[in-house]
Amino acid sequence: MTLVADQKKQKKPAVRGMMENVMEQFNSAADQINLHPNIRKILSITNNEIVVNFPVKMDNGEVEIFRGYRVQHNNALGPYKGGLRYHPTVDIDAARALAMWMTWKTSLAGLPYGGGKGGIQLDPSKYSKDELERITRRFTFALADNIGPEHDIPAPDINTNSQTMAWMADTYMSTRPPAERTANQHVVTGKPEGSGGLEGRDRATGYGVYLTIKFWAEKNEMTLKNKRFIVQGFGNVGYWAAHFLENEGAKLVAVQDAYGSIENQDGINVASLFNYVQAHKGSFVDFPDADPIDKDSFFGTDCDICIPAALGNQITKENASQLKATLIAEGANGPINVEGEKALLKLGKTIIPDILCNSGGVIGSYFEWLQNRNGELWQLDEVMVKLDKKLNESFNKVWEYSQRRSMDMRTAAYCIAIERIEKAYVQRGIFP
Ligand code: GLU
Repeated sequence: MTLVADQKKQKKPAVRGMMENVMEQFNSAADQINLHPNIRKILSITNNEIVVNFPVKMDNGEVEIFRGYRVQHNNALGPYKGGLRYHPTVDIDAARALAMWMTWKTSLAGLPYGGGKGGIQLDPSKYSKDELERITRRFTFALADNIGPEHDIPAPDINTNSQTMAWMADTYMSTRPPAERTANQHVVTGKPEGSGGLEGRDRATGYGVYLTIKFWAEKNEMTLKNKRFIVQGFGNVGYWAAHFLENEGAKLVAVQDAYGSIENQDGINVASLFNYVQAHKGSFVDFPDADPIDKDSFFGTDCDICIPAALGNQITKENASQLKATLIAEGANGPINVEGEKALLKLGKTIIPDILCNSGGVIGSYFEWLQNRNGELWQLDEVMVKLDKKLNESFNKVWEYSQRRSMDMRTAAYCIAIERIEKAYVQRGIFP
């Protein structure tokens, strides 16, 4: 029997210091708004941290023990909300930081949610679909008393998808008394459309990334036509963002993922690349209409817009000076670390911060949750219009705040998010 799968097999997580990043971002915004020291204390720590070790039978009959995490940072505004990722970099530090980011993200978006995050430290490519199903179901069972449609609502994140959510919803519902089962469908969001999922939830994050870039361009009296962009990560977020940007006349000139990096300054057709990736086990290495480039020169590719849509801590002070893009739109959570950000701002670059840029996903989740709660079925066009409206409101709030207070958009976004939570604490007081 293997003890805590993958921990022995895998190298140390590559992503370090996410907690330091989120804390520094939080503290600098808290200083700007003179956040009450008691509320600063509360928001500096997580409410609950759930770590579960659970056994799963592998296809070969062996049993492996997995370790799963769910960190519930804050629920002052509503149930904990946020994704579950399956990745070797998942650990308690990453889960804490990502949970905090969710608290700011849901608050900024004006949703009735708090923040949570979690996942399992594993490399899903090493497991069969049946094994992943059993891992997911057993993880859900282990978490069951700590999640719930009005308490903590997981969603997809890196390497988890609508199938993962369908297994989770089914397992969770199976553990409830018969009369409560279907009423618990909204315990997770990001489900398949046939199982309570929302039409458009798949593209919501990428669409939001595109929208925030478009809103930024409009504020600067620019259009996206012929603007060149690069994307790190061609998963759900990167692909859909590229798709919508290309529709608007912008040109994808380089892509990077875990398998490689490619460039074509004449433009890479997003649909062709997507089809190629589907046909080649998720990899675009050897894609015929682009040239391979060196991994470390990717961020230095000539372009106007850079979209890091993969893992955290990708842009640091070591590579920030390479960036040619004037706009960096954070599709991922925490892709720029604090020193990287300082360097970029010094160079006069603009950053659309993650908690705004990729908030289309959790806004889509909120719509799904409402749809399930109210027993409704929403149409795709209706969803897209609502997303557009909500993101436009958020973007304008952040833009105006940052202009009025002469601060960067991340600090402005944090100030707005924290002020909303502070207000709830001031109104309610601290029990007892
Ligand atoms: N995992 C996504 C995020 O980081 C979505 C979370 C959700 O929909 O709850 O924002």
